[in-house]
Amino acid sequence: MSHKILIIGSGPAGWTAAIYASRAMLSPVLFEGSEPGGQLLTTTDVENYPGFPEGVLGPDLMEKFRAQAKRFGTEVISEIVDAVDFSKRPFHVTAKGKTYEAETVIISTGASARRLGLESEKALYGKGVSACATCDGFFFKGKNVIVVGGGDSAMEEANFLTRFAEQVTIVHRRDHFRASKIMQERTFQNPKIQVIWNTEVAEILGVDVGKVTGVRLNDTVTGDMREMAIDGVFAAIGHEPNTQLFRGALDLDERNYILTKPGTAQTNIPGVFAAGDVQDAKFRQAVTAAGTGCMAALEAERFLNE
Ligand code: NAP
Repeated sequence: MSHKILIIGSGPAGWTAAIYASRAMLSPVLFEGSEPGGQLLTTTDVENYPGFPEGVLGPDLMEKFRAQAKRFGTEVISEIVDAVDFSKRPFHVTAKGKTYEAETVIISTGASARRLGLESEKALYGKGVSACATCDGFFFKGKNVIVVGGGDSAMEEANFLTRFAEQVTIVHRRDHFRASKIMQERTFQNPKIQVIWNTEVAEILGVDVGKVTGVRLNDTVTGDMREMAIDGVFAAIGHEPNTQLFRGALDLDERNYILTKPGTAQTNIPGVFAAGDVQDAKFRQAVTAAGTGCMAALEAERFLNE
């Protein structure tokens, strides 16, 4: 049996596509994937999603999306898709050894925060190491933290963390930031933020005691190593789109985001659509993801009618 619409991914884009597709009586099937609910599950208060004047918790918001999609008959499969074949029709999507056929596919697999790639980072994740100031900043009241990175995210995270932390140190591998001027200004003017230039985090210390106690820093110019006592490490070094599955199957841009035709959710393969952060390195907002999820469902519906 061939499904009309398969949706891969369960963030705001995927659920919104599911709501529209199910209300259009297209009986969509949605694969929840490895991180059900996506990045909003790692946030606390969402204050910029319209319709919630008092704010809403990220996990609660995603539960509402899910309930709304299920209400109209979306079939939810709690599996991770491990292969796709878009070279023949119907398309093939495989999860846990079972292959599903589909006339259209909507990809909404999102993006994930980039990691530093250190063993000690892995060992101390959630024990003082974080990639989300919004989620974890609160735990660092009166403490000293570092933020790694030199882009807008690093500036935003650093400024946000000064609400809680005593001191925030930005550690950047070069001698200037790539962040926008206005974000840099705000950072330089914040008395609680200091910057260490030309420096990389070589190791996070504290694995033996199960919480971050410091970092070993490497001067990228002189090669000198030194240790710094610290309570928390926030990596703000960008995001990676979750497109490993689609390499070779779809056109991606130079940063591996799925290419969509401007103003549409269409990929280079007719009948395969992409929505949300997997195709958007720029806005990365729940509301824009939801918007493109709606676009993808409407386009899939049109494609099926044609
Ligand atoms: P980004 O602009 O790609 O910046 C990533 C930063 O991390 C760069 O400074 C990079 O250093 C550094 N970096 C990357 N890998 C590293 C590693 N392994 N070790 C140490 N440092 C590493 O990413 P972003 O800041 O997340 O921003 C992404 C996009 O979202 C941008 O277009 C940004 O403007 C936008 N954004 C906007 C806002 C806002 O306007 N409020 C907020 C957040 C994001 P190098 O500079 O040396 O490459």
